[in-house]
Amino acid sequence: MSQQTAGIHHITAFARDPQANVDFYAGILGLRLVKKTINFDAPEVYHLYFGNESGSPGTIITFFPAPGSSRGRIGGGQVGITSYVVPPGSLDFWEARLKRFGITIERATRFGEPYVQFSDNEGLRLELVEREAGEPSSWSWDGISADQAIKGFGGAVLYSVNPPSTMAALQRTLGLDKVGEDADYARFQAPGDIGNIIDVPLSRMEWGVGGAGTVHHIAWRAKDFDDHVRWQQFVMEQGYRPTQIIDRQYFNAIYFREGGGILFEIATDPPGFATDEQAERLGEKLMLPEWYEKHRSQIEANLQPIQVRVLEGESE
Ligand code: ZN
Repeated sequence: MSQQTAGIHHITAFARDPQANVDFYAGILGLRLVKKTINFDAPEVYHLYFGNESGSPGTIITFFPAPGSSRGRIGGGQVGITSYVVPPGSLDFWEARLKRFGITIERATRFGEPYVQFSDNEGLRLELVEREAGEPSSWSWDGISADQAIKGFGGAVLYSVNPPSTMAALQRTLGLDKVGEDADYARFQAPGDIGNIIDVPLSRMEWGVGGAGTVHHIAWRAKDFDDHVRWQQFVMEQGYRPTQIIDRQYFNAIYFREGGGILFEIATDPPGFATDEQAERLGEKLMLPEWYEKHRSQIEANLQPIQVRVLEGESE
């Protein structure tokens, strides 16, 4: 028996300032806030989900913005860079847009592909890459057109404390194909059209420190609930220790740590984000799981109000 993921389902990271988080991912990057809920284990902290119009698997980045939390350090055992894919010909637009918001840009190349790299307001490393693959975005924001808008994840760069072990996990457990290797990186590909290109630096990284501005985990796609049960069994057979299946309201999840220190999750494509609110109204209301509903007024009083808003940017 073997299993193969289509690619990234979502990436979850830490932040401190909820409004600054919304301003960066919705206001500047033009993603849709598709779900506004709370950390089910800590209801005084938001859990914010940003993605494409429907929050499709492969487009979703999620944050737990905890005011006053400590800053992390990017390093081994983490997703080092989160890659977003944009339509061909749009990198210049993005470079100009990011600069208008005072964001420092670097250019990089891996496997012949040019990347625009930058950090979010908390220090999380991000990059944009042009590719043909992936549905054009149907979410319009602040004049970003469909031939410029982010389509979802291109993939990720995984910082490993044990690269051979991480690469084995990608190939043998997740079913990715190795498609390239140069002096610095190995490249792996999953069959999905987005969230499918994973690069691993060949040299061992020093351990990072979790906290604001770092990724907590990367989740990989399972087709449905039956496939998810097979994943749990398969991950166990591969010598890892997956958690029980956990209901995350918008998907089911299992977690395990691979040998290079990175926390992996396997998450189901269904049911998705339109399960507790209408597709047209996603992200507008604070959504609470049933057991918290009776504490709604108290929970809302403990959260900083946030809003999705168009930002001014600096004048040209
Ligand atoms: Zn997750």
